[in-house]
Amino acid sequence: MAIEIRNVEKTFGAFTALGGVSLDVRSGELLALLGPSGSGKTTLLRIIAGLDHADAGEVSFDGQDTRDRAARDRKVGFVFQHYALFRHMTVFDNVAFGLRVKKKAERPAEMDIRRRVDQLLTMVQLSHLATRYPSQLSGGQRQRVALARALAIEPKVLLLDEPFGALDAKVRKDLRKWLRHLHDDMHITSIFVTHDQEEALELADRVVVMNHGQIIQVGTPAEVYDHPADSFVFDFLGGVNRLNGVIEAGVARLDGKAVRVDGAVGADGPAVIYVRPHQVELGVAPAEGVPEGKWSARVSSLHAAGPVARLELDLAGRALEAQLSRDRLSDLALEVGSWCTVDFRHARVFPAKS
Ligand code: ADP
Ligand code: MG
Repeated sequence: MAIEIRNVEKTFGAFTALGGVSLDVRSGELLALLGPSGSGKTTLLRIIAGLDHADAGEVSFDGQDTRDRAARDRKVGFVFQHYALFRHMTVFDNVAFGLRVKKKAERPAEMDIRRRVDQLLTMVQLSHLATRYPSQLSGGQRQRVALARALAIEPKVLLLDEPFGALDAKVRKDLRKWLRHLHDDMHITSIFVTHDQEEALELADRVVVMNHGQIIQVGTPAEVYDHPADSFVFDFLGGVNRLNGVIEAGVARLDGKAVRVDGAVGADGPAVIYVRPHQVELGVAPAEGVPEGKWSARVSSLHAAGPVARLELDLAGRALEAQLSRDRLSDLALEVGSWCTVDFRHARVFPAKS
């Protein structure tokens, strides 16, 4: 199921929650809506679901306007952060619920319902807990029941609103992988909301970055990470150094030295140079002075657990984070207090906010 969203607007009183959002969701993709709290992600998801109406604009499913289609007729399954499972129903009955409340003409025979629920419980690896009640489950198990329940009606579209938000980090990572497999096996179109950039980058086919009720950028995880549309996206995707510099005669400079930057440099004036830690290149400090065009920095801390080493450097009074392989670190023989040279493989520059 492909979903086309055209100029959708939504206000709450004087507040604009969605200011003209357009988006094409491709059939079969796993799409992440990523943005800070209050950016309009849930509002957009609820409008897609038919739980809420847009003030203006259109949402169509496979080319058909959904305006007159009620939520229950949209073939949409939902999972929310705090999914209210029915406390007085067993796991089995919770999953069966969506099928049992169907209109009589569409309701499968009880035997078929049982078969379907058994299949779903096997799929979410909860068959052995079918007779338990929600209060007897862990958070991760509850979210798996919620997923099985959403999938029972054989939705064409699966909508998930921060489905793992309330779970601890380890369970979250496991469920993430598992959702990816499930999505691929089911051949459905899935949209999930998250404010966690790592989750979005790891899980999604494409990421939609939102802020203040607007879509700022849409792209694959690599596209948005490597080519952020603006400073907001650069910041929001995490892991970034911001260095105060200046643009002079169209050249970005940090402490007087020119910085090679990707993309437009912008107008002269104060500017912030953005560099990802893995784009910081370190070198052995020369015996005297600093090599032409490079900066000099001192290692202030060093974390080298796992394959990647993270260094905190002092670059003329600024904190600079760098990431490099442990092999590279041992080649450089750096330790806390060492001097080294610094260069930037890729940097972007944005005007300083006044
Ligand atoms: P997100 O899911 O990205 O955190 P939401 O879509 O829930 O953001 O909300 C976007 C903005 O709209 C928020 O500022 C929120 O307070 C406001 N909002 C959402 N729903 C309502 C509502 N029913 N009444 C008033 N304001 C709302
Ligand atoms: Mg939300």
